[in-house]
Parts: sequence; structure tokens; C-alpha cells
Amino acid sequence: MNIVTAASLNVASASEPAQDLWQQSLRDAIRSPEELCDILQLPAEYCAAAKRASTQFNLFVPREYLAKIPPGQPEHPLLKQVLPLAEEELTVAGFSRDPVGDREALITSGLLQKYASRALLVVTGVCAVHCRYCFRRYYPYDSVPKGEENWKPVLEKIAEDPTIDEVILSGGDPWMLVDSRLQSLTDQIAQIPHVRRLRIHTRLPVMIPSRVTDTLLRSLTGTRLTPFVVVHINHPLEIDTQVVVALNKLIDSGAVVLNQAVLLRGVNDSVDTLESLCRDLVNLRVTPYYIHQLDRVEGSGHFEVSDTCAMEIISELRSRLPGYAVPRLVRERPGGANKEVLA
Ligand SMILES: *Cc1c(COP(=O)(O)O)cnc(C)c1O
Ligand code: SF4
Repeated sequence: MNIVTAASLNVASASEPAQDLWQQSLRDAIRSPEELCDILQLPAEYCAAAKRASTQFNLFVPREYLAKIPPGQPEHPLLKQVLPLAEEELTVAGFSRDPVGDREALITSGLLQKYASRALLVVTGVCAVHCRYCFRRYYPYDSVPKGEENWKPVLEKIAEDPTIDEVILSGGDPWMLVDSRLQSLTDQIAQIPHVRRLRIHTRLPVMIPSRVTDTLLRSLTGTRLTPFVVVHINHPLEIDTQVVVALNKLIDSGAVVLNQAVLLRGVNDSVDTLESLCRDLVNLRVTPYYIHQLDRVEGSGHFEVSDTCAMEIISELRSRLPGYAVPRLVRERPGGANKEVLA
């Protein structure tokens, strides 16, 4: 490992070993609405809308993910998650730029502490995909500490608070950091005696499954901390052979793997779709943890599902599936002591 050279970089660097295919995937990812529309043979009006809507929050999607979407299907549930639509430009009452009160919960640069015993570190602003519904599209990521030395105050805060027994690495996507950076961060966290668990919130195993390398796994399971990984899969069609391989590697490494999904109109707001997602997950040893009601962030109004409808879907799921296969329906709320559990 080259702890020194890559330590101050936030994302993939050329100094990582050549076998890191995932970094090549990031470089090759689609950033241009024209190219996406061309590959998927979408009608011209979608391309024009995507060009306009992507000026607000740009398009970014790895080719691995795009490969799961057949051409000529503008309404495909995977495409809807990544294609900027004209609807994003609509102003919807109640939708704002900081819907979950994250700015208030910011203890110090990079550290969010909203809930008892858990500290969440925003370790990077970047992701392997730009999900159109994401509440972090307006997050002030400029304030994320960059170099290793800038994380000192955050680690000191955690060290000073013996009530914290779990550290969550989030972002952005924490697995966008290079392995050496992750390793040194987890080593430092493991040195704080009262911290017992390390949790990673990531979409990379689904977006770029080759990200799950042996070196990455070492940073996850190589300390005394009990490792949890919360992946983010919204639709059963996101799970292909490569994703299965990545999930298996994570679980075989000893991590507890959970899934969180976001309930999205036109993507997964159907009992059959979610039933099939939850079945696939438990068959893979992944426990469905949360299904989130949408955070009401500007530009995402068209994805919202009403609470009544959401609760009906969960109740129907409960009648079809084993208890452990039904995720809790939750919502983030500013100032609450926990996520609000709706069902
Ligand atoms: C969601 C969240 C957590 C984790 O909550 P769990 O209910 O333990 O999954 C921690 N911190 C913040 C800021 C969160 O938004
Ligand atoms: S991967 Fe997660 S943080 Fe990144 S854009 Fe998607 S939902 Fe947002």
C-alpha cells in the first residue's frame, strides 16, 4: 500500500495499482447527455431536456450500470434514476435545498451527529453516479476536509465523546476514496477505544462492482471494528452477475451487509417490484434495512410517493414475505432523535 502518496487525494489517483479497474470505470463513465441518449437511442426531446436539467446537477453514470438498460426505453426504472428530466426544473412547494437539516447537524467540518451513539463522517462529496433524487445535490461539499491532517479535528471530537460506539463513513460515497486513504482513516478510527463498529454507506458495489477489491476489503475488515456495509439498491434489475460477485465478496469477508432503498415513483413504487427486490436480497444474504421516503429536495418532486401509498405497499409486502425480508419505511426529518418510522 502507498499510504503516503495517495493520502491527500480524495479520489482515484494514478499511483494506485494498475489492477484497479474501478478507477478506469470512473474515467470512462458517461457525463454527456448526448452520449447517453445516443447509446440508449432515446427520442430527441429526452436529450434536450437532459441537457437543460443537467446544468443544475450534472449527469454522471458508469457504463456498467448503463449496460443493464435496454435501448429505446426512456421510462426504464434504472434509466429514470440517472437521466435528467424536464420535471427537475419544476418548482414544487415544500421542496428545498436542505430538506433534512444536515447543515444544522454539522458539528465540525465533515462530521454530522444527528443521532445518539453514531457519528457520520462526510468523507467525500463525490459519487460513482449522480442519482437524480439525491438530497445531497446541494450539499456544501466544499467544506469536506481534504487532506489527512484536516481529519484530525473530526477524529478528536469522536475521541472526546465516549457515547459514540459507531462511526459511519458516508458522503458522497466513501468508497470513492483510494484504498490507502480508507485504510489510514479506519486505522485511526480503530485507535479510539470506545468505537466498536464501522459502517460504510455506499452505492459502489452496485454501480462499479469491480470496486470491491481485496485491498478494499482489508480496510473494511482488517481492524478490531465490527464491519457493516449498507449498500443502496432500488430495483431488482440492478443486481446482475457482477453485483452478485461483489456482494458475495463483501459478505464472505465477514461484513454484515444491509440494503437501503429509496421509494421512487415510476421506479420501484410497486409491491411486485419491491417483493422481488427483497427476495433477491435475502437470497444473497443481504438484509433489507430501510426503504426511505424521498427527502424533499428541490428538483425531485416527480419522484414522490404519498405516505398512504407507501404504507400500503409495505403492509402488502409484510403479507407476502418473511419478517426479516421487509425493510422499515423511514423518513429523515430535521431535528428528530431518530429517523421517523412510518411502517
Ligand atoms: C441515517 C443517519 C444515521 C444512521 O441512522 P440509522 O438509523 O442508525 O441507520 C446516522 N447519522 C445521520 C446523520 C443519518 O442521517
Ligand atoms: S450514490 Fe447516494 S449520495 Fe451519491 S448521488 Fe446517489 S443517492 Fe446521492
